[in-house]
Amino acid sequence: MSIADNIKSLKKETGLNKVTLLAVSKTKPATDLQEAYDAGQRLFGENTVQELVEKYEQLPKDIEWHLIGHLQSNKVKYIAPFISMIQSVDSLKLLHEINKQAEKAGRIIDCLLQIYIADEETKFGLGFDEAIELLRSEEFAQLNNVRIRGLMGIATNTDNEKQINEEYYELKMFFDGIKQSYFRKMDSFDTLSMGMSSDYKLAIEQGSNMVRLGSTIFGSRIIKHWKNN
Ligand SMILES: *Cc1c(COP(=O)(O)O)cnc(C)c1O
Repeated sequence: MSIADNIKSLKKETGLNKVTLLAVSKTKPATDLQEAYDAGQRLFGENTVQELVEKYEQLPKDIEWHLIGHLQSNKVKYIAPFISMIQSVDSLKLLHEINKQAEKAGRIIDCLLQIYIADEETKFGLGFDEAIELLRSEEFAQLNNVRIRGLMGIATNTDNEKQINEEYYELKMFFDGIKQSYFRKMDSFDTLSMGMSSDYKLAIEQGSNMVRLGSTIFGSRIIKHWKNN
């Protein structure tokens, strides 16, 4: 199967479920992204600022770029002028910086709060309590150049489907609760980003409306031993 074939069949599958397909293109060359683009894909996700900026410069300007990896505050300025969504917001401090750079760029930047759901030490994200604390804070209320569109979560990397189902179920329940409590009148709080190549079918069953697929589209990545991704 070619990249174009994968895009077409995955778009069909996710479309039937009203789920948005984010193509995760990290480590892949721009030619691979172009092939996906030519097959109709417009949403791409990268996990580092450097790679994202490089590809942004090389590829068509109607691509919507999502950052899905851990973001350091000092790098926000490089993506603020063009990024469509930052899915990996994991602190109020980072949100502050995004707000500041968005203001400079004359934009409002869409963000997801990354929620920690995995049974692993290595994953970034806010705990349920921390997310609530952030949303209730006075500081948050004053950030006018960021818009929280929803939540993102990464399940434990395991073959245990029951565990994955439980983690995604919890995140969906939390999403519904947060929407009721803090975004009741805001239609823009609409995105629940959960599901990767290995578990996206489970995620969709549990209520995901955005899946982030890399290897299913582009083939497996060469493992870089100096990084987790
Ligand atoms: C790499 C990555 C993905 C996609 O992983 P695949 O298993 O290749 O689908 C999804 N989400 C995040 C946050 C990632 O870093």
